[in-house]
Amino acid sequence: MRRNLVLGNWKQNTTKESAVELLDAIKLELEKAPISTDIGVIPPALFIEMATEEQYSPHFSVGIQNISKTQKGAFTGEIGADMAASASVKYALVGHSERRAYFNESNQDLAQKIERCIENNIVAVFCVGEELKDRKSGNYLEVVKQQVNAVLAEVKHLDIEKLVIAYEPVWAIGTGETATAEQAQEVHAMIRSLVNSKLGFNDISILYGGSCKPSNAKELFIQPDIDGGLIGGAALNAQDFVAIANSF
Ligand code: PEP
Repeated sequence: MRRNLVLGNWKQNTTKESAVELLDAIKLELEKAPISTDIGVIPPALFIEMATEEQYSPHFSVGIQNISKTQKGAFTGEIGADMAASASVKYALVGHSERRAYFNESNQDLAQKIERCIENNIVAVFCVGEELKDRKSGNYLEVVKQQVNAVLAEVKHLDIEKLVIAYEPVWAIGTGETATAEQAQEVHAMIRSLVNSKLGFNDISILYGGSCKPSNAKELFIQPDIDGGLIGGAALNAQDFVAIANSF
């Protein structure tokens, strides 16, 4: 179901101590001004439990940055979707550009990860986005279209309730260079119409990610096809993160 959502991806940041500090600071911000938007943190897996221990707000939930494409078994180092679900994880990132680039995740891997999420009642946050060369060549819509098609066409038993798409132009991630509201809206509208025509899902949530901060969140979130944000750097600052979630 389409709804507003802001998720904070902590990536490989924080220690046990600083994760507690960040969660405490988020709690304080949420107590100051109760929030009506769905909001979630995606800490390193080791610190998930401390984020799920407490009910920060009825709209607060916790995600995981990566899950295994396989079901349980002899896969040393992997975290299964069933494990994540049993630890009260609601969201799992799938296909983040850093995982695609540094861990060589293929479209087939991503399709399998989405399947594991659906089987275990976890919402897959499926990330897509073009590189700078595609933006410069003008080929970006085609690139994103192919990313969406290549993965979603392979997923068995796709369930709209278990899928969110995040458009994250790679050139905007961690660079400080945000897509303009118009640039983001153009791609979001294309994704919405593609998912609708191919899969019949007309009310999927589509998040924007890429140097989103309090100063630009409002103009992005007001766009008709942008339903919220996947936040990296700014999610490590409680005030900025909650301010972004309050930008609807
Ligand atoms: C991300 O990595 O998903 C992201 C959006 O990062 P940042 O906000 O730092 O650009």
